[in-house]
This record gives sequence, C-alpha cells and structure tokens, in this order.
Amino acid sequence: MTNDEILALFQESGAMLDGHFLLTSGRHSDIYFEKFTILRQPPYVEKLCKMMADLFREANVELVVGPTTGGVLIAYETAKHLGTDSIYAEAGDDGKSRVFKRGFSIDPGTRVLIVDDILTTGRSVHEVIGLCRSFEAEIVGLGLLLDRSGGKTKFDYPLKALATVSAESWESADCPLCAKDMPLTQRGSRKQ
Ligand SMILES: [Zn+2]
Repeated sequence: MTNDEILALFQESGAMLDGHFLLTSGRHSDIYFEKFTILRQPPYVEKLCKMMADLFREANVELVVGPTTGGVLIAYETAKHLGTDSIYAEAGDDGKSRVFKRGFSIDPGTRVLIVDDILTTGRSVHEVIGLCRSFEAEIVGLGLLLDRSGGKTKFDYPLKALATVSAESWESADCPLCAKDMPLTQRGSRKQ
C-alpha cells in the first residue's frame, strides 16, 4: 500500500483527525492522531501488522519487542505474522527508563525487531534500543506504523514506517487557523 493508502486507513478508522488542535505542548496543529482509536479495532491492527511483518520478512527476525502501551499490541500482532514470540518493555520503577518485567529477557545474539505505533520524538524507541542492547541483542530493524516526524528522527538501525507524515504545528501567534478564527479543540493527554 502507498503512503496515502495507509493514511486513508488511519482516517477511515477515525484515528486521524483534521481540525484545529491545541496540543499538550501548547502548540496548535491542523492534524491529530488519536492512536488508540485505530489500535482498539483488531481488523486494522491485523492488516497493518501483516504489512509490517512483510517489510521484515527477509530479516530472519527471532523476537519482536515493543514499548508499552501501543507497542504491546503491535509487537504481538507482528510476531503472530512472523511466527515469533513477542515481549514488551515497560517503564522502570524510576519512571525514566524501560525495563523487562514478567520474566522477559533476551538471549545474547537474538535477532530482534523493535516496533511501535506512532513515532513522534522517538524517545520510547530509543529506550527500547538501549534495553535490547543491554541484553546484547542483534537489532535487525525498527518498524513503525506511522512516522509523524516526517522522516526527521534518525536511528542507528534501519527504520521502516508504513507511512510518513509531516505534521506541522505552530505557536498560537503564528497559527494560520487562529488567523481564520477556526474554533480550537483540546486533544490528548500525552506529549506531542
Ligand atoms: Zn491556532
């Protein structure tokens, strides 16, 4: 599927909203992704993760790892299509790092695919990379449903996103939608 077709799936699922949004950062944007609107619908998750698995079919993946919370679903469903196990990294007790709990670990040299839903700052992916490296895993790739950094976030491993979108945001003083007096909607509980 093309970039536009993937974005159309997000739109069709109701997860990609057009409008005039106040982000948690205080900036304004004309686009907002409510990611759990798509993640709560198994047919979309299945379709997207099958495409994700196909992107890494030749990489001999042995384990799929994702960060909580959306990454748990993505890792599980992608692993299902690759015929591997999936585990997830959750917040450490200090709240600053990612750790494996529930008896999860990685054997040294295991070929790991790291997945997540929407890439914004890349922080969670960086944390999972650090965690996997601490187990001496061989990271074979990074898979994202959507890269909303417009391809600007770089990693030391091959990154493949099903779709890339360059979402603009503005300070209210520079916002073209404020200039048009379009009503502002407040969305989101997480950092943009
Ligand atoms: Zn505005």
